[in-house]
Amino acid sequence: MAPFSGPRTPAHATIPGVSADPTTIMWFRRDLRVDDHPALAAAASRGPVVALWVADPALLGASHHRAPMRLMFLRACLEALDAALAERGVHLVVRSGDPAAVVPAVAREARADLVVATSDVTPYAHRRDAAVGAALSADEIGFERVGGPWRVPPDELAGSKGTGYLVFTPFWRAWDQVPVEPRITPPDGLTGPVLPSDGLDMLPQGDPPIAAGPSAARARLEEFIRGGAVDRYGEDRDLLADDGTSHLSADLRMGVLSPAQVGRAIGADRDLAATRVPFWRQLAWRDFYAHHMSRHPEVADGALKPSYREIDWDDDPALLDAWREGRTGFPLCDAGMRQMQATGWMHNRARMVAASVLVKDLLVDWRHGEAEFMRCLVDGDPANNNGGWQWTAGTGTDAAPYFRVFNPVLQAKRFDPTGAYVRRWVPELANVPDRFIHEPWRMDEQTQQEAGCVIGRDYPAPVVDHAIRRDEAIARYKDADARYAARREAAA
Ligand SMILES: Cc1cc2nc3c(=O)[nH]c(=O)nc-3n(C[C@H](O)[C@H](O)[C@H](O)COP(=O)(O)OP(=O)(O)OC[C@H]3O[C@@H](n4cnc5c(N)ncnc54)[C@H](O)[C@@H]3O)c2cc1C
Repeated sequence: MAPFSGPRTPAHATIPGVSADPTTIMWFRRDLRVDDHPALAAAASRGPVVALWVADPALLGASHHRAPMRLMFLRACLEALDAALAERGVHLVVRSGDPAAVVPAVAREARADLVVATSDVTPYAHRRDAAVGAALSADEIGFERVGGPWRVPPDELAGSKGTGYLVFTPFWRAWDQVPVEPRITPPDGLTGPVLPSDGLDMLPQGDPPIAAGPSAARARLEEFIRGGAVDRYGEDRDLLADDGTSHLSADLRMGVLSPAQVGRAIGADRDLAATRVPFWRQLAWRDFYAHHMSRHPEVADGALKPSYREIDWDDDPALLDAWREGRTGFPLCDAGMRQMQATGWMHNRARMVAASVLVKDLLVDWRHGEAEFMRCLVDGDPANNNGGWQWTAGTGTDAAPYFRVFNPVLQAKRFDPTGAYVRRWVPELANVPDRFIHEPWRMDEQTQQEAGCVIGRDYPAPVVDHAIRRDEAIARYKDADARYAARREAAA
């Protein structure tokens, strides 16, 4: 556990409902659990605790965060957290407003001398925490960050030059050497002053697309291990119809499950079976993108590679709409987009293909796609989403080179060989013969009639020609590179 140096000021005068011991505010953010929670354990070890969650309008109101399914999932996670805290003796206090005002106000109400939270990496989180820290220190209240949503803290692995990693494989090697922390058991009992709470009605009510909370997450993890999928992951993870992945991304996103809990469950704290390494390695991508955003916050606004901040995009709104609604005429891309719109989750392979179609075929700025994913995904996570988009667009860290453009038809033939995934999500194509399922526009008229899928009426022809647009995309990237180089030369 990280060293804990919170101030231990003398007890405040006793007031009704407020303990004489110094109270600690445990400010929950992306860590909605009580088990394996270093910050909560540290807070509880000091004495009375107020468990706080702040509905921050800057986050909940931002258009790319208005994701109804994610917010429903968040609400259910918060309800589960409240129930787990109540079992231990306190309730979750919910307050709405700017954290820089709300957190110090709650700390004053509780006569707290310390606020504890886990760390976060987005530029907004840094600004928010700096403002909260400054406001608290004006009231002589401490603010400590203990642990975080990642297995290895983003700044811990500095690399040989001390500047961090830009390439995944060396990052993974270093990451894999860091031992998995032992479990931190949840505090048995919690006490603390009882403060009024706003309730959760600012979040949409309704059944989230997947069951939420630590027990549901645990059940998903156990099924993934017991059913053997974790051992087949290396072979199955890209097969779209088989869906051989863990579906733990939303649990990890909200912190109802910690990556260390996942690691211990698969045996990464002991001798990890070789069959499980591919899955463990995939979890390192999550830390890699957080590591990256922490060291290069500018990626939140644009390409990591400066030359690609000026690509000449078309940004055609009609094409962007077609992509959003799953009617580009590229079946795998459309299936992925419809899966996401319907369930709030999309298979990783489909995410890569859908992203590539938007950027390299439709010539739309990847940031439009990034925002659309954030509006839809239950697991929508600023660092992972940004990393995935920049990887696919070829503008980020350890990215696919810009000239390597996914062919949506070949990808579909390889990873959805029977077309089962496409048929599930694009029902107009359900009766299209296997040999045309990924290129339905090649059916002759009679086959279209027999399949009940007339191209242009029941399902669109591709909105662009892949071969032509591929060359165009490569030319635009080259052009951006050339313009950037010329400007640098002129400035030198
Ligand atoms: C364009 C694009 C956008 C993406 N946006 C997000 C996002 O907003 N949130 C998100 O969690 N993941 C994102 N990913 C990564 C990945 O697609 C999802 O994490 C994965 O599909 C979630 O399903 P799973 O839990 O079954 O994953 P599994 O395959 O079972 O992997 C286990 C866990 O490892 C992590 N992980 C796996 N692959 C990646 C990856 N490539 N990058 C980072 N972490 C990974 C996730 O936490 C995941 O839950 C994106 C990928 C792309 C290409």
